[in-house]
Amino acid sequence: MSAPAPADPRLNLIPLGSMPQVAELEEGVVRVLAPNASPMTLDGTNTYLVYGRNGGAYLVDPGPADDAHFGRIASAMEIRNLEPRGVVLTHHHIDHSESAHRFSREWSVPIFAGALEDPASPAVLVSEGDSIEVDGQRLTAMHTPGHTADHFCFLLPSGRVLTGDHVLGRGTSVVAYPDGDLERYLQSLLQLEGSASKGMYPGHGPELSDESAADVLDYYISHRMYRISQVLEAFSEFRTSVTEAVRGIYGRSIPPGLLFAAELSTRAAISMLVERRYLEPAGDDDHYVRAGAGVEMLLDELVADRRRRL
Ligand SMILES: [Zn+2]
Repeated sequence: MSAPAPADPRLNLIPLGSMPQVAELEEGVVRVLAPNASPMTLDGTNTYLVYGRNGGAYLVDPGPADDAHFGRIASAMEIRNLEPRGVVLTHHHIDHSESAHRFSREWSVPIFAGALEDPASPAVLVSEGDSIEVDGQRLTAMHTPGHTADHFCFLLPSGRVLTGDHVLGRGTSVVAYPDGDLERYLQSLLQLEGSASKGMYPGHGPELSDESAADVLDYYISHRMYRISQVLEAFSEFRTSVTEAVRGIYGRSIPPGLLFAAELSTRAAISMLVERRYLEPAGDDDHYVRAGAGVEMLLDELVADRRRRL
């Protein structure tokens, strides 16, 4: 019998689709919501303006190439007399990065990112611990691979963290296998748990309060461990396909538009379980069998890993 699913601590969140278009979150941080809501992007992508006392500003995750969004960002800058210094990306996914080159060109500013496939604009490659500073405001880069290999979170002087797709305002994140990696994702959650005790500003969904931050991280880790144990339980000594496993775990209730995301996350768990020798491939890439040890052993191992890293 499997343990019950961990409960989401985010109660009383503002309902999906009712986030304000522009919100002032703290001194020097404004959020502009992009009009690209979908099952994968929730309310839409959150674009952040992070700026210092003299008006120098960084645009974090500029979002989709959309004229209305561009206009809202430009007017949020104008009202506050901000002067652009750079575009910063949490990761390369298109819902965060599509308009990066456009802003970079129009403003003549560089793009700061963990990786940049298309070097059409001047780029600054970011690594762990780098700080991007402007007039007393600062973004400290934390490499948090897992959702994607190039994912970064950015710590603000207030102690709050821009979390991109590492931690979301509602629901849970997808480990976008094979670029995403579940083992690294868990490690990155543990890293954030060790350093972020304050609120979070996610790439999608509402901001997470200072009070809820620790509980949300704890839930993210428990939820992921629960999913990994479910994936292991979906297999037996008989050959089982990935599709059968996905159906076993998520049931038939999952909206068709999210099925591919469920499969990516399941494949990420399978890859981790093969690596740790709980599963082994049975003939091809699509079938697996249990390699021996059971779920209890796996959970003990994950809990021990967590204690070791804290
Ligand atoms: Zn993403």
